[in-house]
Amino acid sequence: MEMKKAGKVHYLEPRIFAESEASVQGFTTRHEGVSRAPYNSLNLGTNTFDSLHNVKGNRSLLARAFGTRMERLVTVNQAHGTDLLVIDAPNPDYSHFLKLECDGIITNQPGVMIGVCIADCVPLLLLDPVKKVAAALHAGWKGTAGEICSKGVEALVKMFNCKPADILAAIGPGIGPCCYEVDTPVMEAFKKNGSGWDLFAAERGEGRWGLDLSAANRHQLALAGLREEHIETSELCVSCNHDLFFSYRRDGGDTGRQMGFIMLQK
Ligand SMILES: [Zn+2]
Repeated sequence: MEMKKAGKVHYLEPRIFAESEASVQGFTTRHEGVSRAPYNSLNLGTNTFDSLHNVKGNRSLLARAFGTRMERLVTVNQAHGTDLLVIDAPNPDYSHFLKLECDGIITNQPGVMIGVCIADCVPLLLLDPVKKVAAALHAGWKGTAGEICSKGVEALVKMFNCKPADILAAIGPGIGPCCYEVDTPVMEAFKKNGSGWDLFAAERGEGRWGLDLSAANRHQLALAGLREEHIETSELCVSCNHDLFFSYRRDGGDTGRQMGFIMLQK
């Protein structure tokens, strides 16, 4: 992924989408927003103790940087589940979806920016450049153990006739295995679904593991039929990179949110 700038917004752009001009997308950093510490400065999450006025200013900044309006930037009330919102009809204002509890958004509507807010969890973007459908998914350990990626791909296939071999995926920066230690309940949740725990968790002592959330989601996408070469993963850990990203664990819970966003072009 490559660091880019649109308007004032500094963001990471996945190379995997570059060839297709079907969409604009990326993963924001914390730079150049209007929020003050500890939300400094591009805090895009409405579920923090930051002033809503500042968050709205930041969301508007992001929308305008890509030629749209804040009313067409859709995020939801993320609940660490695997429910998905599908937007397949136009609407002049999408802000009411902010209250809807789910963890992924899928759309075939051009000019609608869909996003997931994160500060440790992994943001994922999917694009089918053939059928022109995009998705943004939020995957913490619960969403990953619940296989939100598999469900996202399944929804694209069932509802929009997408072929998994056509789908491109970008796994954005979340907390890396270097900084993400988990315990037995997390291991049990993963093993219940039988989804390859040993492939992405390294034991660090009695009942403690370093979990690689990106690798777990990559594994799911591959099982869902995506080609290995169609999956791009950011190597950046949000906790290690204080200057670039917010991290919920590192910052003791009081911090901002960056966003993985994607918008189909008209
Ligand atoms: Zn780290």
